[in-house]
Amino acid sequence: MSGRDGRPIVFLDVDGTLLPFGGDPAARRLVAGVGVRLAAMPCELVWATTWGEDANTGISPRLGLPRLPVVTWEADPGPGDHGLGLHWKTRGLATWAGTRPFVWLDDELTTLDSDWLRNYHPAPTLLEHIDPHEGVTPQTLTAVESWLHDL
Ligand SMILES: [Mg+2]
Repeated sequence: MSGRDGRPIVFLDVDGTLLPFGGDPAARRLVAGVGVRLAAMPCELVWATTWGEDANTGISPRLGLPRLPVVTWEADPGPGDHGLGLHWKTRGLATWAGTRPFVWLDDELTTLDSDWLRNYHPAPTLLEHIDPHEGVTPQTLTAVESWLHDL
């Protein structure tokens, strides 16, 4: 982990978020134009994906992004939510963020995650649910930019 500054964080999922699921697995393409917009955001970009460090070798260069910090998960994250139905990443991301605000882009979010973070994270959060077949859209990025600007 690095970059524990005070900037807001944007946690990035890969599969179904930056790399949409398509009909032909071999033809999967990263969403075009995302890297430039992400790189310009006033935040710390952080990989939050099962790709782990592979996101830095397999995805960052294709998006024109530098090497980014990577959230590391427990070997077996388990449900981790005491039956609340939270995504398995949710608590780990809140812990990683500490007291910093964060955005989380992921195709597996539910309102349980946003509700839990609203109640238990000490700073504002913005969770954007991504359509896994479309990937992150320009409209989503605009919403993130506006949210970061208004913090
Ligand atoms: Mg995903």
